[in-house]
Amino acid sequence: MTNEPKQIVILGGGYAGVMAAVRLAHQSQKLNIKIVLVDASDGMVERIRLHQLAAGQKINKIPYQELLKNTQVQFLQGFVTAIKPNERKIIIKKNQNFIGLDYSRLVYALGSSVDLDSVLGVRENTYSLGSYDATLLLKEQLAKNPKSHLLICGGGLTGIESATEMAETYPNLKITLVTSSNFASDLSQKAQEYLQKVFKKRNILIKDNSKVVQVNAQSVLLKDGSEIGFDFCLWAGALTPPKLARQAGLEVNEIGQIIVDKTLRSISHKEIYGVGDSAILEPSAEIYLRMSCASAMPMGAHAADNILAEVENTKIKNFRFGFNGRCISLGRSDALIQMAEHDDTPKNSIITGRLGVFVKEFICRYTIWSLNLERSGWFVYRWPRPYKQKLISGVNQHSTV
Ligand SMILES: Cc1cc2nc3c(=O)[nH]c(=O)nc-3n(C[C@H](O)[C@H](O)[C@H](O)COP(=O)(O)OP(=O)(O)OC[C@H]3O[C@@H](n4cnc5c(N)ncnc54)[C@H](O)[C@@H]3O)c2cc1C
Repeated sequence: MTNEPKQIVILGGGYAGVMAAVRLAHQSQKLNIKIVLVDASDGMVERIRLHQLAAGQKINKIPYQELLKNTQVQFLQGFVTAIKPNERKIIIKKNQNFIGLDYSRLVYALGSSVDLDSVLGVRENTYSLGSYDATLLLKEQLAKNPKSHLLICGGGLTGIESATEMAETYPNLKITLVTSSNFASDLSQKAQEYLQKVFKKRNILIKDNSKVVQVNAQSVLLKDGSEIGFDFCLWAGALTPPKLARQAGLEVNEIGQIIVDKTLRSISHKEIYGVGDSAILEPSAEIYLRMSCASAMPMGAHAADNILAEVENTKIKNFRFGFNGRCISLGRSDALIQMAEHDDTPKNSIITGRLGVFVKEFICRYTIWSLNLERSGWFVYRWPRPYKQKLISGVNQHSTV
């Protein structure tokens, strides 16, 4: 990389992209590198709090100017429309103009959004937490109709967190959660029993082992031919990454995540790093990742470390990572912390109630603290890195319909 112009371009200012930017920023002057962060929005969305926003709480976007203050990172607001790997250039749409931006190294951190197209009628007839603005639409409807029937399609963590948050805020809202599998079957027995109790207490009806095959204006059609009516439907289904990597000819998996090697570089284009929801490790890496903020931030930090190593001509390192658990909010007064092995297998140990709330809130705040502290330069973000890692197959925890 020594003879090339050292321009590092980071696509996407979510948890992974901002972490990469602030981590690189420390060394930007010393190593004479230019860092550009590109995002369609002017502020970072705390996606892990979008269910709170939908339930009426004030969740602000954090302006990038604030997240990047006192750094040399340049922020460019615009929508990335194409990557041209052969020219090492990206194309950004800003207002009505298209701008080209060259890179020496690219960090692909474009995250994911809710898949609105795989099931008929979802795009036309449902609300989602796919973005800040999409969430505001649901927030408005719920506030205007607090006694209506909300149907939540999806029994993953987004579905669970949304159902409990909304039930707490709107006690007269009738809520039904429908999911294709056994409810919360990827959690421990203890956790499942606890969730059943909480849902019962909050009068949330669970309809599991019921696959939604079509969404109409006021009802969903299930695979067995029956229908469930609703006033509003929240689609908490599968998450999907942007199509840009596939369109650019990068090696991707079946849903379009960029496939990266153990060092987090694209297996087809070594000058491109893939981090967060829009990337997946090649199977031989033997690290299980699910789309999560918990893995996005470590990936962003590790990609930054490896880019710095490349600039300094030192050895780049393999990514190591392990989960510790899943932190699930159940409204503001309860939470469930499911402890887990590093490969995400649930342990039979859970934390609930007020202590659970404290842990969950601490973790949510820690994400933003980490970004601010990393930027300040006196804190280096770290994460659990087990030596031995076993590959397991798993589901996307936020998105089981
Ligand atoms: C309600 C909810 C609760 C959650 N709770 C948790 C939790 O408790 N713990 C956990 O670990 N995970 C949780 N998650 C999952 C977590 O939010 C995601 O895994 C995480 O946000 C991924 O981070 P990221 O940086 O990869 O992408 P994102 O945070 O999605 O950021 C991607 C960025 O890219 C930008 N972008 C995308 N496309 C373009 C484009 N073409 N041009 C320009 N910019 C673009 C977007 O504007 C966005 O800023 C939750 C998700 C939801 C929806």
